[in-house]
Amino acid sequence: MNKYQPVIGLEVHVELNTKSKMFCRCSADYFGKEPNTHTCPVCLGLPGALPYINQQAIDDCIKIGLALNCQIAEKSLFERKNYFYPDLPKGYQISQYRWPLCTNGKLMIDDGKIIRINRVHQEEDTGKLTHTKDGTLIDFNRSGVPLVEIVTEPDFTNVEEVREYAKKLQQLFRYLDVSNADMERGDMRLEANVSVKRQAAEGPLLRHEASEPRQRRGESELPNYRVELKNINSFRFMVAAIEHEIKRQITEIEAGKKLTQETRGWNEDKKCTYLQRSKEEAHDYRYFPEPDLPELILNPKKIQQIKSSLPELPWDKAKRYQNEFGIKKADAKILSESKEVAEFFEEAVEHGKKHQVAPQDIANYIVNQKPDITSVLPTQAVEEIKGKKVGVIEDLKELEKLAKKSMEENQKALEDYKKGKTEAIQVLIGGVMKISSGKADSRKVKEVLEKLLKSK
Ligand SMILES: [Zn+2]
Repeated sequence: MNKYQPVIGLEVHVELNTKSKMFCRCSADYFGKEPNTHTCPVCLGLPGALPYINQQAIDDCIKIGLALNCQIAEKSLFERKNYFYPDLPKGYQISQYRWPLCTNGKLMIDDGKIIRINRVHQEEDTGKLTHTKDGTLIDFNRSGVPLVEIVTEPDFTNVEEVREYAKKLQQLFRYLDVSNADMERGDMRLEANVSVKRQAAEGPLLRHEASEPRQRRGESELPNYRVELKNINSFRFMVAAIEHEIKRQITEIEAGKKLTQETRGWNEDKKCTYLQRSKEEAHDYRYFPEPDLPELILNPKKIQQIKSSLPELPWDKAKRYQNEFGIKKADAKILSESKEVAEFFEEAVEHGKKHQVAPQDIANYIVNQKPDITSVLPTQAVEEIKGKKVGVIEDLKELEKLAKKSMEENQKALEDYKKGKTEAIQVLIGGVMKISSGKADSRKVKEVLEKLLKSK
């Protein structure tokens, strides 16, 4: 298997949690509702009905784009993606193709690798088909619900990277409060493009340095086919489907067969992928500009406004927990995975300051004991930890030693402070917390540092 290098790209669809649908005023909150009760002439695709744009959905799409470091187009356009299917009464889906709202983004995954994001665009969902033994039922409640699609470049080289990226997106949607991103309910759906290529003789071609965006690989370096794995509704199925597909493709290549462009599904019972459709290209859809909708023109001021309204993102939080509180990397990641846990942790840290309970002890408590944060209060958690533990470093001599070490290690912050940037002291405090594994009493650390800095 080592002779081959998987080349994987991911398309993620996420349904937005806006009040109304993308192009009409029907309620978008359709889950579990009586079939065909959230419909109107627009989302039923009746002749003569005219769509209009849901502003909140556009704002949410921009939020996602900005959080993923995309460029936001000041001018974009909706187009018709034409195809026939029973769940699509208009005979086309309103989507974006040539002029998407957001392009050229990136997201860093844990090992420092950058995943390039080709585009983030706005479209609408289709109706839902339910196949029974007597026939197929159709529910149009989902038809026209706002959907955002996020497409990566084929930058993944193994399934672990794909899983991590998809989990990060899920966290992001929840932090931004744009979607519940529940896979089981179908709020978030994954499609993977999988191919394999022979490893270059001189070694793996695709490894690259952490902070540096990868050089664009020429088309010629990519395999001349790709298999699209459609409609995968859990992380576990996605991992299984991609792993199976990589093995299947390598077996085919080894047997001298030629692989082609096709769409495959995942059969969970048989644990294998199966052919759905062969060869399907963008030009099959005959995209053309949606004549019933105006161009989408955005004021740069508006984009800036949305940007400044973004919350602190989970990966930024994790970094801050490490730097400011000296929390171990793995713990910082767990604490920032959900907004609720992060809030609980931060409140507990705040309260812990008054009771000499170190942030790392609070982190340990949350990570190991997994308290039910809906019923335990952060203050109660601190009391509990305090009742049990000792070991906070309060001794001034000892703190002074740690403070000096932090000053040595953080020369830049030291210089900044001397130049009058007093907030640089946070970096020095963070340094002490790190060196002491979070055991130093942070309030006393600040006092000690201030004294040392004054005497310099
Ligand atoms: Zn409607």
